[in-house]
Amino acid sequence: MEQTADNPAQESAWTRMRPVVLVLLLGGLGHTLVCWVALQLDFFRGGTAVFNSLFTAIWTGHIVLLALAAAGVNRYLPARDMILPVVVWSTLVLLFSAYFVDQVRLCVMMILFAVLQVGVFRVRLRGFAVVSALAVLAYAVIIALVHRNHPASIDVFSELIQWVVFTIMTIVFVALAAEISDIRVQVSERNEELGEIVERIQDMAIKDELTGLYNRRHALERLYKIREMAERGAFDFVIAYVDLDHFKDVNDDYGHQVGDDVLRAFARTVQKQVTGRDFCARLGGEEFLVVLVKTDLNSAESLAQDLRRKLSQARIDSAPDLRVTASMGLARFQAGESLDVLLARADDALYEAKASGRDRVIRARETPS
Ligand code: GH3
Ligand code: MG
Ligand code: MG
Repeated sequence: MEQTADNPAQESAWTRMRPVVLVLLLGGLGHTLVCWVALQLDFFRGGTAVFNSLFTAIWTGHIVLLALAAAGVNRYLPARDMILPVVVWSTLVLLFSAYFVDQVRLCVMMILFAVLQVGVFRVRLRGFAVVSALAVLAYAVIIALVHRNHPASIDVFSELIQWVVFTIMTIVFVALAAEISDIRVQVSERNEELGEIVERIQDMAIKDELTGLYNRRHALERLYKIREMAERGAFDFVIAYVDLDHFKDVNDDYGHQVGDDVLRAFARTVQKQVTGRDFCARLGGEEFLVVLVKTDLNSAESLAQDLRRKLSQARIDSAPDLRVTASMGLARFQAGESLDVLLARADDALYEAKASGRDRVIRARETPS
């Protein structure tokens, strides 16, 4: 029988224990009570001696299963759930006791529905059908065995009528389980869809649609946190303002579509080089911000030069003869300075790179400490 706990990893200990306690304690008490009443009415074949040994064995089993569930043994089971062993054990116990209970056998067998009901949200339809079919068959076998071994204590005709009632109720129960199973499948599909939508929305909130790079707002949020850590002395970091050169001409000469392809090509180039905690964001238009964490100015400059070279060599499929360059302004974070000051220094360096001929990397001036 297959089982699915909807999200076993997130279940609390009590949520995990509840169905097990319900089946074993409440189901067990109900079962014991019905059989005890049968014993009082002299319907329990074998009398008190058989009753006592049978129910001592049954309650020992219940307590062992409860103890195993409390100890978290479910973690080692394939479905990470104790429902399967508990339902199988309870079904066996009911069937076994049904052999000894004459006249009220159907009452004992009806307890099976209470047992199955506990697993209805966790056990798949196929599992229900299998357990129910086996219980119907086993009930018929019990009637046959009692008829063979104790013909005097059984009225086969009325037993068969009860068996038919049990079978009809079982079919109705399985049909209900099928409905519930359908609803569960729909709910879990809907949850999956919702999860994907939430993921897409979260992505849209932090990423630029055209390039897939972080957007300005998210970049500044991250940068704010990085600055906080750097301020506490965790590491050094360097930022680079990047602006594509003569990008307006690219749009004018090749069209906006090719311009977009250039932006995407830049994003691909930079994403190959900037990984891990480092990141690149599109601030807007053809302007980007690269943040390099745990990096000194020399390493940052060599990475920036590399990026500049790779971009100038990049081939745009929609305009094979087009070559694009970028100018960059590099600034290392200096202890105590605000983000605005750091960004302004990088921007000044970028302006200098533009003014001195473009396609180059310029280091920002540092304020003497
Ligand atoms: P400079 O070398 O001084 O940076 O010159 P530039 O032409 O790159 O700079 P300018 O700021 O004059 O032009 C930027 C252009 O970028 C203008 C705008 O049409 C274009 N642009 C902004 N966003 C997009 C976009 O999403 N797609 C495309 N294709 N073009 C864009
Ligand atoms: Mg610009
Ligand atoms: Mg530009």
